[in-house]
Amino acid sequence: MKTAFITGITGQDGAYLAQLLIQKKYQVIGLTRSYNNINVTNFKYLNIDGQITFEECDLLDFSSIIKLLLRYRPDEFYNLAAQSSVGVSFEQPIGTINYNTQSVLNILESIRLLKLDTKVYQASSSEMFGRVNTLPVNEQTPLHPLSPYAISKASAYWIGINYRESYNVNCVNGILFNHESYLRSPNFFVKKVIRTSLEIKHKNKDSLHVGDIDIKRDFGYAPDYVKAMWLSLQQDKPYDYIICSGTSIYLREIIDYVFDYLSISKDKLIEDPALFRPTEIVDIYGDNTKAKTMLNWEYDKSFFDVLDILIHEESANMKV
Ligand code: NAP
Repeated sequence: MKTAFITGITGQDGAYLAQLLIQKKYQVIGLTRSYNNINVTNFKYLNIDGQITFEECDLLDFSSIIKLLLRYRPDEFYNLAAQSSVGVSFEQPIGTINYNTQSVLNILESIRLLKLDTKVYQASSSEMFGRVNTLPVNEQTPLHPLSPYAISKASAYWIGINYRESYNVNCVNGILFNHESYLRSPNFFVKKVIRTSLEIKHKNKDSLHVGDIDIKRDFGYAPDYVKAMWLSLQQDKPYDYIICSGTSIYLREIIDYVFDYLSISKDKLIEDPALFRPTEIVDIYGDNTKAKTMLNWEYDKSFFDVLDILIHEESANMKV
């Protein structure tokens, strides 16, 4: 039986990844910030509550990582924990950059010092590319991060490459574009649009407040994207992979689609310049050829198909 560590296991990707690894008969160890305060909502939703072993681990505390590595000697280590919101990173730049980089350094340095052959997956982000001159983005596109979050992820990405090239640590960067699901945190755009729209429909809210929606993003479906994470660690050699749908759509199109689907009038949409970010990527989409070719990863959903799934799931689970 293989053993996998997952950090950030309570989040969207952590929960879906845990479900996948449990299906594949892994022993799943979830590293959490606080043992007494684990949010099991996502595990209950996916019917995997009780099938994960939790260990308290402060990723900023080198020795607590070492202890757990020595105890379990995991085959795979998926590092998903992060302050993951671009918006919050503008409010908390120091905390975001410190946590999202120091945690990665501590994990890789522990594995190097213990001379383990644990394979590491680092959750990198398309936000690292930021201001791009040529689309689609591929694994060779230079990085120009535009937010504290993106800077933290770019730094962690280079730490991963450095440990791979200098010390032979088997570290893969999965460079994921936006991916959504019912388990997405409510502060993220797509979840907020769908949830608020349903609340408007049920007359529990009056309007949807958004920032700049004339920007484009490449969106996909989280349960499919976590399969790529797992596949990337099943290879003999570590490489970095872009995981994306390959097309971008306007945030405004998403709102139009959800409003039309739920028959909501457009005057319920309030565009608020106070919600605009200091810097914003105008358009970005990726090229997933490497992942599809080398990992045999399959993805062909249009984001409107994903929106149909999300609207159904949200409305089936909404308490009105
Ligand atoms: P998420 O739902 O926001 O979950 C983040 C996880 O990290 C949670 O389990 C949270 O645990 C933990 N965490 C957050 N801040 C932490 C901190 N300061 N110390 C320790 N743990 C902390 O994120 P996600 O959408 O699943 O994304 C997973 C990873 O992929 C993240 O690293 C994210 O940056 C990256 N990523 C996501 C996307 C996307 O579209 N979803 C795209 C590219 C990259 P608690 O329960 O303790 O809060």
